[in-house]
Amino acid sequence: MSNFIEMDFDEWCDTYKPIPNNYDENASFDGAMFETYGAEVEFVKKADPAHIWMYGDGDDGGTYIWSGWGFVNRLGYFITEVPCPPDTTIQIKVGINWYYCEGCGIEMEDEDSLINDKYYEYECCPQCVTPEQLKEIEANA
Ligand SMILES: [Zn+2]
Repeated sequence: MSNFIEMDFDEWCDTYKPIPNNYDENASFDGAMFETYGAEVEFVKKADPAHIWMYGDGDDGGTYIWSGWGFVNRLGYFITEVPCPPDTTIQIKVGINWYYCEGCGIEMEDEDSLINDKYYEYECCPQCVTPEQLKEIEANA
């Protein structure tokens, strides 16, 4: 069985200690993120896999850091001083989720995907939902 751990970004930095990107002093995340191309990604590939982390888009619209090397939806990489424990997947939520309403075109912060969960399949949002839709949503909640 493998473990799944979620933590916040500050806790992750304190625990796993991302190393600075010496290729680019203006790198994202206070100079810790490595790009997905060129010399930076080549440097990441040489690191021990247990020390590699991927930064990317999550399925829910937020951005995350995950332990390990990955390709899908990748935005960058990190290398940490402290390795990820064996048989463990760690997920760090970085970005705030945004909900885009198909109904009225508005975008709003949706930190825990609560709006997304409730309104997405109805293509509306708390601002443009009709009383009929709301009734249907509440009935199916
Ligand atoms: Zn709307």
